[in-house]
Amino acid sequence: IYARRAAKKVLVLEAKNYGGQIINTLDIENYPGSSHITGFDFATNLYNQVKSLGCNIKFEEVIKIDDDYNVITNKNIYSAKCIVLATGVNNRKLNIENENKYIGKGLSYCATCDGNFYKDKEVAVVGGGNTALEDSLYLSDIASFVYLIHRRDKFRGEEKYIEEVNKRNNIKTIFNSNITKINGDEYLDSIEIDNNGKKDIINISGLFIAIGQEPNNLRFNNVVELDNNGYIKSDDGIHTSNKNIYVAGDTRVKNLRQLTTAISDGAIVIDCILKEIFM
Ligand code: NAP
Repeated sequence: IYARRAAKKVLVLEAKNYGGQIINTLDIENYPGSSHITGFDFATNLYNQVKSLGCNIKFEEVIKIDDDYNVITNKNIYSAKCIVLATGVNNRKLNIENENKYIGKGLSYCATCDGNFYKDKEVAVVGGGNTALEDSLYLSDIASFVYLIHRRDKFRGEEKYIEEVNKRNNIKTIFNSNITKINGDEYLDSIEIDNNGKKDIINISGLFIAIGQEPNNLRFNNVVELDNNGYIKSDDGIHTSNKNIYVAGDTRVKNLRQLTTAISDGAIVIDCILKEIFM
């Protein structure tokens, strides 16, 4: 938006759909000036706004950026004066046996996308952050019963969600437990958990994994420096180790990964680019 309003030519490359993670958020309640908006509506409004300003949006996956700032996608090669990496993060996997086998067959990373398949069935959510709490609440309105499994004895998410989870009769919280096995034939039908050495089997039709996110930036490590976890290093927030490549949003090293801070990064990045590259 800021770049187009400054009459710059902008190409946005999206590997899959527009919207990133926010598109799967059921209700955004903490965006200043708006008490409630669905993630889908927010992302769609943003997409339409950007399109109407004349931004060129292409659905292509970036494979690599070379030393001459050529952006190589699965379909084309684009040459750019400067590049903003806003690659976000992907869902973290549990990394246990059979995890990939049951994706779409009882195992999901997105409650708002797949929750409706589990009407009146028993499901489990794993995680202890806001996403796991929100997912549990969302699923408790659809499924008959929700097991919320967390590896520690304390949630990481906000008190507001914790209180709501504790009020629901059809959510059972299981602390200090890790999922050790996923069972089933074609479809997942149970999980094994380890609770401080005590093993248990829980029969469920759906398992929702909500254990946070991780970046996917290794393809860019020839042009920008990454930290040990794969986030893009940026000393002052938006400059990378490469003078023509900037970074914005969850994919950079930062303390607070929220819609508000991502949008703030975007505005600051474009302001810097206009001053540093075009003036
Ligand atoms: P998160 O805050 O990073 O929480 C991830 C949770 O998964 C933690 O409780 C963590 O346990 C657990 N975990 C991580 N790896 C695990 C593993 N291998 N096995 C078992 N458990 C594991 O992630 P998130 O909940 O997706 O939230 C990400 C960001 O988005 C946060 O900043 C959050 O506030 C924000 N968010 C905000 C909203 C909202 O404001 N409405 C909604 C959703 C998300 P430990 O606690 O032991 O580390």
